[in-house]
Amino acid sequence: MAEKQVYFFGDGKADGNAKMKELLGGKGANLAEMSKLDIPVPPGFTITTEVCTHFMKIGGNYPKELEGQVEAASKKVEKIMNSRFGNPENPLLFSVRSGARSSMPGMMETILNIGLTSATIPGLIAKSGSERFVYDSYRRLIMMYSDVVMEKAAGIEPKEGMGIRHQLEHEMQKLKDAKGAKIDTDLDADDLKKLVDIFKKKVKQILKKDFPDDHNEQLWGAIGAVFRSWNGKRAVSYRRIEGIPDEWGTAVNVQTMVFGNMGTNCATGVAFTRDPATGENKFYGEFLVNAQGEDVVAGIRTPQAINEVSKTKASKHLPSLEKLMPACYKQLAQIRTKLEKHYRDMQDIEFTIQDGKLFMLQTRVGKRNGVAAVRMAIEMCEKRLISKEEALLRVRPEQLDELLHPMLDPKEEKKAQQLAGGLPAGPGGGIGQIVFTADDAEAWAKQGKKVILVRNETSPEDVHGMKAAQAILTAMGGMTSHAALVARGWGKCCIVGCGALNISATKKVMAVKGKELHEGDWISLNGTKGVVYDGKIGLLPADPQKNVHYKKLMGWADKIRRLNVRTNADNPQDARTARNFGAEGIGLCRTEHMFFGPDRIAAMRQMILADDEAGRKQALKKLLPLQRRDFIGIFKAMDGLPVTIRTLDPPLHEFLPNDKASQKEMAEQMGVTVEAIKDKVQSLHEANPMLGHRGCRLGITYPEITAMQVQAIIEAACQVAKKGVKVHPEIMIPLVGTKAELENQKKVAVETAEKVLQKAGVKIKYMVGTMIEIPRAALTADQVAEVAEFFSFGTNDLTQMTFGYSRDDAGKFLPYYLKNKILSADPFQTLDQQGVGQLVQLGIQRGRATRKDLKVGICGEHGGDPKSVEFCHRVGMNYVSCSPFRVPIARLAAAQAAVR
Ligand code: ADP
Ligand code: MG
Ligand code: MG
Repeated sequence: MAEKQVYFFGDGKADGNAKMKELLGGKGANLAEMSKLDIPVPPGFTITTEVCTHFMKIGGNYPKELEGQVEAASKKVEKIMNSRFGNPENPLLFSVRSGARSSMPGMMETILNIGLTSATIPGLIAKSGSERFVYDSYRRLIMMYSDVVMEKAAGIEPKEGMGIRHQLEHEMQKLKDAKGAKIDTDLDADDLKKLVDIFKKKVKQILKKDFPDDHNEQLWGAIGAVFRSWNGKRAVSYRRIEGIPDEWGTAVNVQTMVFGNMGTNCATGVAFTRDPATGENKFYGEFLVNAQGEDVVAGIRTPQAINEVSKTKASKHLPSLEKLMPACYKQLAQIRTKLEKHYRDMQDIEFTIQDGKLFMLQTRVGKRNGVAAVRMAIEMCEKRLISKEEALLRVRPEQLDELLHPMLDPKEEKKAQQLAGGLPAGPGGGIGQIVFTADDAEAWAKQGKKVILVRNETSPEDVHGMKAAQAILTAMGGMTSHAALVARGWGKCCIVGCGALNISATKKVMAVKGKELHEGDWISLNGTKGVVYDGKIGLLPADPQKNVHYKKLMGWADKIRRLNVRTNADNPQDARTARNFGAEGIGLCRTEHMFFGPDRIAAMRQMILADDEAGRKQALKKLLPLQRRDFIGIFKAMDGLPVTIRTLDPPLHEFLPNDKASQKEMAEQMGVTVEAIKDKVQSLHEANPMLGHRGCRLGITYPEITAMQVQAIIEAACQVAKKGVKVHPEIMIPLVGTKAELENQKKVAVETAEKVLQKAGVKIKYMVGTMIEIPRAALTADQVAEVAEFFSFGTNDLTQMTFGYSRDDAGKFLPYYLKNKILSADPFQTLDQQGVGQLVQLGIQRGRATRKDLKVGICGEHGGDPKSVEFCHRVGMNYVSCSPFRVPIARLAAAQAAVR
């Protein structure tokens, strides 16, 4: 533990800076940085994350130096502010704010107006001249403090809806109703005074403790509670979802209060230096006059736009900050420019205006959706704010998914019945059945249902349900509300502030336009426009080719990357889709799927039932033209690009029916007895089919299968070549473990191919290579490469065999392993670089030792996983191959790997 535990900021100076996020948390580091940039920041100090870790370990005790350092820093602040914490005549108030390394929106706690006591209240009234303001601040302090410190940090877990904050809010509502007050600002000083008394009584009654009337007790209570909030239920569950380590801890920021609730010359707001939904370079934000803290985000009143360009349907009629307080707006706009230039990225900022004076309370790199991320990266690069390489790194490859997002079918949308409009907080289309609670959303989704979570507003307690839902719809809140923020971070379809909805979560019903909708009813959302429709509308796939920014970014990516990106496709349609997404060939075409079609399965079964080679050949003859037709379509779709086709891989029993009825049907079709079928099924039964008679083992024992497939491939190639299509067939033998196995199959393949080529009189270059998916093949890759003309790592099977996990049965323990951190990631999703990766690396090295320019690729699921793609780049592969929709992701990931 470092000796320095407290870092001061304010008055154009600071002990810390933006680089010290680990120690000061994101908020503290940036408050220090802004202060140094001479941006007006209320002075304060940051208690380090190290103190939090210590506090947690030692069971709620502080290092002994802390108190002294806090006192010294407070003195410095008091001097600047010319007032004193706890002083009855001239009191200074503090906010106590959490701040982890990376932002956890709304997860952690913040308490405002610390230091209001019976001793300081009269002084602040005299100083501010506003009794209403002081009691408004005091009622807020009681609400936040009793909730965060006296309830949550004390480990009290009230029943649903019985939390102290909720109960106090209820009291406030009662008073508002009695007074006929619509909004909180309708309550006057006397009302608030009354309310404060009610609050204190409630606190005592429910929590069995008096609300503390000592400023120091309040301060230290708040600091401890913020540290404890790191281990709060919400924070822990958020960290699980986002993959944030528990060890990081939070910092605590103690900062001079500035007041947005002192009258109509005061305000508080949040803004983004660019539009986080579209990426457009326009200053975008919301604020409320005479308000404090999270009022804007909580959707207590309809927020006003900070400028004319930020106006939405809801804020259209309300004056903007630009009009209302032009001087403040101008200063804010200047700070916006300064911050973007300095941080060279879009910022998410919080500000408060006290008596016409602007203060900045927070800046951080703003969350954005995929569409916005791409646009900002391009535009910032074009304005020379960042380099091309940085622009490429600014977009998380997974974010491209959102550009490839489905949309509501516009034709159906036109005809659909509009239920209501709201703010477009998350792009794309979403359809699903209504649920009203996060738990229901999670439960229904687990049953495989598509749901839309409908809430008045969301809170951090709802994140699990929001994650599980297809889309989120709220009645309240603006573009910076919790729902909007979270959905944007995830790139999920979301509409907020849909005021026409009248929701009763307890009755599980919502009324809109005189219609009642119940749990389970279908609705459709257009999150790009903010429209809610009745019923189920079709979803269309996205069209990224119309997005100029996307095209530019991908162009840059393609120039920089060294890895080629191919696709796994078994039919012409997938091949075309992938090609549209930029695929540079097919890395894996599985042929077995072609045998399941209704016109083929009979011939396939006939072959399996045959007792001798002659019988098998006869059946294969029927399959040949069908298979040839498939390849013709694929070759045409991939004109000019390589196509890797794998010979038959799965065990034969997969083609036979297991249940009695189907066996009987098959017997009738084939003209044999049911017993004969049963016998065959019995004889093909294997104790462990994954390790059984499959892959090249099939082709070796039944060479006529390989021969038929190669004949179909090469005949198809000849046929399209004659029509001018450029074909590059690559025949891939699966599941090879020894050189001899591959030798055997290569001989069959080459003999067949040469015969076809001779007969057709066409010259076509083809290759014969192998999948490396058995550890022994990787280990003996030098020998295998004597025969193989290319390698393709089949990392699904390689992972399965290296770990000894059956992919089909891993569901029984893998989730447990992940939850309990026996494994840090699912090795079937992201390549296990430490273990399986070694085999890959070794295989490449040994293979290339024999054949210097051996072409090497990967065709497992990992080919579309960004981390795995980076690995493939590092170990010198020539290409990755992945499913069509992941092709753009792999292209960007490959570019990022080249940049890094
Ligand atoms: P979060 O991490 O959830 O954003 P913050 O610590 O930023 O929480 O606090 C929430 C809000 O409280 C801020 O946006 C701001 O409006 C208000 N706030 C925090 N500190 C102060 C302060 N010193 N003066 C005035 N308002 C404050
Ligand atoms: Mg904040
Ligand atoms: Mg395999």
